Amino acid sequence: MSTVEFTVLGGGTEIGANSYFVSGADTGIILDCGLHPKKEGRDALPDLSILTRPPDVALVSHGHVDHCGAVPYLLRQFPGLFVYTTRPTVSIMDRMLHNSVSVMEMLERNQGVRGYPLYGHDDVGFALRRTDGLEMDYEFALTYQSPVRAEFRSAGHVLGSACILLQFPGHSVFYTGDICLTHQELMRGHALLEEAIQVDTLICESTRGAQEADDEPSYEDEIERFGAEITKVLESDGVVLVPAFALGRNQEILNIIARLKRSRMIPRVPVYSSGLGRAIYEIYSDNLDYLGPRADLRPLEEFERVGNVWEPDAVDELLEEPCIIVATSGMMVENTPSAMIAKEMVRSTRHGIFFVGYLDPDTLGYRLLHANTGDKMPFETPGRSVHIRLGNRQRFHFSAHASRNDLRRLVEHLNPKNLVFVHGDAPAVEWMAANTNGRARKFSPMLGQTIALEA
Ligand SMILES: [Zn+2]
Ligand SMILES: [Zn+2]
Repeated sequence: MSTVEFTVLGGGTEIGANSYFVSGADTGIILDCGLHPKKEGRDALPDLSILTRPPDVALVSHGHVDHCGAVPYLLRQFPGLFVYTTRPTVSIMDRMLHNSVSVMEMLERNQGVRGYPLYGHDDVGFALRRTDGLEMDYEFALTYQSPVRAEFRSAGHVLGSACILLQFPGHSVFYTGDICLTHQELMRGHALLEEAIQVDTLICESTRGAQEADDEPSYEDEIERFGAEITKVLESDGVVLVPAFALGRNQEILNIIARLKRSRMIPRVPVYSSGLGRAIYEIYSDNLDYLGPRADLRPLEEFERVGNVWEPDAVDELLEEPCIIVATSGMMVENTPSAMIAKEMVRSTRHGIFFVGYLDPDTLGYRLLHANTGDKMPFETPGRSVHIRLGNRQRFHFSAHASRNDLRRLVEHLNPKNLVFVHGDAPAVEWMAANTNGRARKFSPMLGQTIALEA
């Protein structure tokens, strides 16, 4: 019998600063080290003071900030630490982390957020020099002394995203990271592990655990509806805004739109995309072998660049002719390009704002989606509220996370002895624990909690 300990440093029963500590065979491993998307200053960090021993190594599943955003801070605490992730994720982290520094500096300057920036550009540079990018399906030893071996398996979520297989002597652990089992426009869904690999402990994300299967239309049906609604707006001389995360959603949506255009399902109008999404798009272009076999990534030049949206004239000009704009942030956080463009769009009735990803109830995007026409709301802080005249605000389902039925399928396939649910709100984690494999020991640990797992 071989025991492995698991501790939540951040993001247990919430989608927060995802970070976990796994230890066994005298080896301490940090799995992901992210920043909380809804907290500010030092509150956004995982709690590294919980660690009872210094970690030997950190493994990063993918480049979303809630999984890698605190890596430079971690390296400042433990400068001798080695970090491993996949090859594309190193390039993505480079872009995402430097961007995080710029955003934190801006928030400190404009809104006086205390504790920002949590690290500087130098810290990002140092962290990246300590980070090795490995290929998928390649087994490696974690350190010279440790008997623990690790391997990245494609998670199908965004470019470079990986599940992590850890082989302790007599105990194997599989961490899903963020996982998607179905194919997207560019990413091939996660391929289930070979039968021969026995998993003793599964650490499973639960993002969509509370979402009923009935609300999930098929991917192609949803693309058809998306195309039809885009066409309606464009034919009445309107502009379509699609708020989208810079990593993943941006590239997927641009290529869905390009396909709809090519097959003449939508009118041929200019398509615009914004800054960070374009930088990440280039990394997609450099890593075609990591995309699905049917992915037909369009050249970035097919999409025009959104100008400076902080100048009202620039946005007015953009809204003069029918076009499609894909802009960050996906949840339309105040003061981001999607919020600044929406601020002008909502004054008219002819446009459409189409959300395509997860919307946290505490965000501007969620409030705008559910607002009544005639309501007033601010799009920037500080800033004045704007009257909402635009009625055409909709939600489309193009998730990059496994549905709860797919997660159940994953659990059944791996048939682990221990099931640890993380990365989901309490109702999602509870549903998963109640509705998956009856024989496994199930855990949904809270922040700071350590559980002992027996193989
Ligand atoms: Zn993610
Ligand atoms: Zn995540």
